[in-house]
Amino acid sequence: MTSKPNFLMPTNVESPSVSPFWEGLKTGRFLAPRCRDCGEIFFPPRSHCPECLGDVFTWEALSGKGYLYSWTELFFAQPEFDLPFLLGLVDLAEGIGRIAARISGATPEELSIGMPLEIRISNSGDGLALYYVEPFRIL
Ligand SMILES: [Zn+2]
Repeated sequence: MTSKPNFLMPTNVESPSVSPFWEGLKTGRFLAPRCRDCGEIFFPPRSHCPECLGDVFTWEALSGKGYLYSWTELFFAQPEFDLPFLLGLVDLAEGIGRIAARISGATPEELSIGMPLEIRISNSGDGLALYYVEPFRIL
């Protein structure tokens, strides 16, 4: 018997260069590495600093805010996904990178390029935390 791959499961969770990021999500923090050699902070995490190729990092919590760069609505996907869903490209507020994330709490009519979004974290129930975004709303 073969098991189906779970396409919601990231394939790099165990990688030493990114595992602190996934562990941070479990504690509700969206972390980015800062290079100990040159001070550069960057995202996504990778094995070496894009500025100086250093490979020793500290991990810092980001604001959890971003801005919608682009988005699409998906009607076909692997069976793990509830369809349809909105997928956005989101520029991190710190200006250090762009993430792809499911958009929750909004209809396509409510989305506009450049709108502020908040990164939310959900526990997938199998020991893994995943992130998604929602429109930023002032309470
Ligand atoms: Zn560096």
